[in-house]
Amino acid sequence: MPGPELTLEARLARAITLGGPISIAHFMATANAAYYGSRDPLGAAGDFITAPEISQMFGEMIGLWAADVWMRAGKPQAHYVELGPGRGTLALDALRAMAQVGLAPTPHFVETSPALRALQADRVAGVRFHDDVSTLPTDAPLLIIANEFFDALPIQQIVKGADGWHQRLVACQDTLFLPIAGKRLPDDVIPEPLRASPLGSVLESSPASVAIIDDLAARLRTQGGALLIIDYGYDGPAIGDTLQAIHRHAFANPYEAVGTQDITAHVDFATLAAAGTRAGLRVSALMEQGQWLEALGIHQRTENLAAGAPERRDELRAGAMRLTALDQMGRLFKVMAMTAPEWPEVAGF
Ligand code: SAH
Repeated sequence: MPGPELTLEARLARAITLGGPISIAHFMATANAAYYGSRDPLGAAGDFITAPEISQMFGEMIGLWAADVWMRAGKPQAHYVELGPGRGTLALDALRAMAQVGLAPTPHFVETSPALRALQADRVAGVRFHDDVSTLPTDAPLLIIANEFFDALPIQQIVKGADGWHQRLVACQDTLFLPIAGKRLPDDVIPEPLRASPLGSVLESSPASVAIIDDLAARLRTQGGALLIIDYGYDGPAIGDTLQAIHRHAFANPYEAVGTQDITAHVDFATLAAAGTRAGLRVSALMEQGQWLEALGIHQRTENLAAGAPERRDELRAGAMRLTALDQMGRLFKVMAMTAPEWPEVAGF
């Protein structure tokens, strides 16, 4: 007879007790699948807020960016692809901006969460869902957007111990999870300049993210199109433990309350750029979100909208400030674009 259903923590703890410690990537993927799969995490009542939820202008600027490159590519039939679209807000704003210049692509969402899919289907008419990038259409150029998607993908960590570098694993005691040092790794898996880092140093990588770029890059090369990545991150490889959990707008311990808080890591843009370049794409420099939005005219857009709706002027200006100010999201968040080799250049190259 089946017993009472085990909690996620109990299931993970049992798997570790039976099979031994698991990788950080396995832990993160399992926790986040449960977390996103069961709720809408966004907004004031949720755990965190993202740029498209702050201001409609974020999605509009992205829509204009995509429309510009599409027009200069000769206005081909195209698909709009969004990775991890949250509430679908960015897509709504971007598609509305695109429609103003006659760009009406079919929307495709890569989304694993049943809870968020239901919300997205209600908001974005005619959207097609994909479990992963492997089923995206192959018949036309892709305009691909990923905002705060790669930070949610699983990472691996390697930690420096007294006798060298070790893969970091997750062990448990009852249902208390904790990171431990696993198997020792040969020094040559560590980039040369980082090998002499101090004891306790952590080096991260995200093979899952690179695999997605590899797949998308192969498509862009043959089908045409462009990819825009916006996230918080760094120009790696670099030392640093960036694994973090967010619960109700505050930092939390990622090893606690598994599946009920958002676990993320900073994105190593250099590794993603290298994957794009290797596949033959044109890869932009890494830009700051504030500069990028300003170059696209977010402040002019603010004033235009405010002229038509003076009662919203303060709210619109506050939104634009939050997205662009250096001490808010303007510097922490970075933007990188990749385009198919025959496609026109985009801002930031
Ligand atoms: N881009 C949105 C939401 C960011 S939250 C915004 O800016 O508001 C992360 C999103 O990625 C959620 O929609 C989540 O369900 C989705 N997601 C997380 N891991 C995923 C995975 N492995 N595959 C597909 N989607 C994933």
